[in-house]
Amino acid sequence: MPNEQFSGLSTAAVHAGEPRQRAFDAITPPIVHSATYTFRDSAELIAFQSGELEREEYGRYGNPTVRAVEARLAALESPSAPAAALLCASGMNALTTVMLALLPSGSHVILTDDGYRRTRQFVRTMLARLGVSHSVVAAADPTAIAAAIQPGRTRLIVTEAPTNPYLRVIDLAAVAQIAREHRIKTVIDATFATPYNMRPLEYGIDLVVHSCSKYLAGHNDLLAGVIIGRPPIISALRETQGILGGICDPHTAYLLGRGLKTFALRMERHNQNGQAVAEFLSRHPRVSRVHYPGLPSHPDHAIARAQMRGFGGVVSFEVVGNLQSAMAVVDRMRLAYIAPSFGGVESLVEQPALMSYYELSSEERLAVGIRDNLIRLSCGIEDASDLIADLQQALADE
Ligand SMILES: *Cc1c(COP(=O)(O)O)cnc(C)c1O
Repeated sequence: MPNEQFSGLSTAAVHAGEPRQRAFDAITPPIVHSATYTFRDSAELIAFQSGELEREEYGRYGNPTVRAVEARLAALESPSAPAAALLCASGMNALTTVMLALLPSGSHVILTDDGYRRTRQFVRTMLARLGVSHSVVAAADPTAIAAAIQPGRTRLIVTEAPTNPYLRVIDLAAVAQIAREHRIKTVIDATFATPYNMRPLEYGIDLVVHSCSKYLAGHNDLLAGVIIGRPPIISALRETQGILGGICDPHTAYLLGRGLKTFALRMERHNQNGQAVAEFLSRHPRVSRVHYPGLPSHPDHAIARAQMRGFGGVVSFEVVGNLQSAMAVVDRMRLAYIAPSFGGVESLVEQPALMSYYELSSEERLAVGIRDNLIRLSCGIEDASDLIADLQQALADE
């Protein structure tokens, strides 16, 4: 089924997936809180079982509130080609569902570094137990991916763009081309990009995964994930979800749908704030390095400009000094809250060394590329002038 055609992404973010004829004439979609669905008689049940009739059956296999939001996400990710979406309990659940579905025992998966840490942990621990081997190669390097392919065994390439925390951006068309030559499926975790800034399916990537807990919901108030791709593969993944059980509940789907109404507006502001803050930081004498794809100094600036409409609200930067110097800057910030996550309306700040990589020593962190003086700032939708003024005072010498 082709997605509804809306000329603009802002319009699709408000309307796609929702029927013009509103239930109960209410402008907001109903939250269908039902664990199961009734059949009028046995004949209707038989019509459903034989595939003659499409309808809901049981909550783990589908829900009307969830389906409407899935249709909207598919329309945002793939405005011109048929696509479908599968909502999941969380971003991690979306990733684990894809990998469990597509990686048989004895197969091999290629991952890239500077990625979401739990994804690598899942592959190293649980998938290894199921007899799936893996290689981790450098982020944003299609050549390294090509070199890691084990012909006949490699079934999946799982990468991210932009990556976390260095916001590396891979050449999507190059990855898709390499994968096609070897009949390997490609998955991009594009949580940091969102369909506002980048649409990997248009470059030939097979599946896009997002943690909806970040920009898509946008309000730091829910956990959900989504997998988007061509309808046949999403149908197959829906079957897997029916077995694994990691569904998105209707109330969460409603909140996500509500957050999506302002998605385009929020992303425009996140992009503006990220760019303004990155430019400010790049000129500051107490900042030794800024990692932001919208800056010409970023190693992937050229490909990011070609593939992306904007570069998001997350800016990673290194302050002159050590762990304590960065802690002092973070502690002096008054606007951003110290918290994991990003992509919400409120600005958040964290030091990867104290958050996701706390249990490692300085040396172990350095070995995986996490520097102690690194700060990751997620610019919310506040005024850029306030964010910059806050950074200015936080970076000032005591
Ligand atoms: C947050 C995040 C995830 C995990 O998503 P949850 O919704 O927290 O499970 C996966 N990948 C990336 C890039 C993320 O930022």
